[in-house]
Amino acid sequence: MTLDLAPWRDTCSNCGSPIVWAMSPSGRIRVPVNLEPDDERGSLLLSAHGGQLYAGALGRNQAAGARERGRQLHLAHVADCPPVRPVQR
Ligand SMILES: [Zn+2]
Repeated sequence: MTLDLAPWRDTCSNCGSPIVWAMSPSGRIRVPVNLEPDDERGSLLLSAHGGQLYAGALGRNQAAGARERGRQLHLAHVADCPPVRPVQR
């Protein structure tokens, strides 16, 4: 089953990469997550409940197990986003 991420798609205002906005499991903060799954470093399992997208962080063993079951894990975009370049004047 593939989750349709279209409703939460966005573009990073810093680097222009495609991202999705997901709620932390607590539902308090929204975090940018890379749109493309990351088979090596990803540890976030995206799931939709009640029209909201949630990102659950998995531990190393949980992530390995999820991959074995064919789940796609994503990487938090902050891990990938290049630092903002200082403005040249
Ligand atoms: Zn970015």
